[in-house]
Amino acid sequence: MSEQTAEAQPRSVLVTGGNRGIGRAIAEAFLAQGDKVAVTTRNGGAPEGALDVRCDVTDPEQVEAAFATVEEAHGPVEVLVANAGITHDTLLLRMSEDDWSSVIDTNLTGSYRLAKRAAKGMLRLRRGRIVFVSSVVGLLGSAGQVNYAASKAGLVGMARSIARELGSRSITANVVAPGFVETDMTGVLTDEQKALIKAQVPLQRYAQPAEVAQAVTWLASDGAAYVTGAVIPVDGGLGMGH
Ligand code: NDP
Repeated sequence: MSEQTAEAQPRSVLVTGGNRGIGRAIAEAFLAQGDKVAVTTRNGGAPEGALDVRCDVTDPEQVEAAFATVEEAHGPVEVLVANAGITHDTLLLRMSEDDWSSVIDTNLTGSYRLAKRAAKGMLRLRRGRIVFVSSVVGLLGSAGQVNYAASKAGLVGMARSIARELGSRSITANVVAPGFVETDMTGVLTDEQKALIKAQVPLQRYAQPAEVAQAVTWLASDGAAYVTGAVIPVDGGLGMGH
């Protein structure tokens, strides 16, 4: 996988949910390449060197304000990584309207708001990279995650539609589908659940957040200029065939 060359111009990169976990590793990987990175979260705490912007992706006005702040500091967003996400796991028959709508609103509708706003600037630039962070469970399914799996599967249809709409302007839209990654999100699982998951993963371990970041920076690199509408699994082989 080719990395951005040292001579390349720093790009304006926006990573949502970049104060911890996978998003933080993605932000750090772009910072290490010399890009201008903005990180949006509800609670702040961006990595050193990144612009720290507060933005709840469920609020369209906050999304608009965040883009205005980032554009003022770094110029139009050239690389958008829609990574912010939540889980509210429970079985279907116990799932409340709120469990459903909060997860869909954050993971799927939040990503739509971000992509739509980012596309405005990218259309003017006539280039851009959009990467959605989905999950292996979007295509594999997962008992207790009807809301989450639906939100993550929705990202695939959205990315592929954007790829078709905006491809003529050299804007790509791709999906990274991680398996189980060591972060706060999976930290809540019991030891028994973790052991069961590992037993199903051909590589027999969880991913580190930096391993997901590698796929994201590649999708944003010159080397991936002809890749769009793709779903790149980073799942230790868990989702093979899906
Ligand atoms: P974490 O729970 O560690 O971090 C979630 C991030 O999202 C935080 O930065 C959080 O910041 C932000 N966030 C949550 N809700 C909102 C919101 N409404 N508005 C803005 N930011 C928000 O998650 P991970 O790092 O584990 O996961 C990152 C992404 O990767 C998610 O989309 C997740 O679904 C996906 N994923 C994770 C896997 C895993 O095994 N960990 C596997 C597959 C996919 P703050 O709370 O400050 O707003």
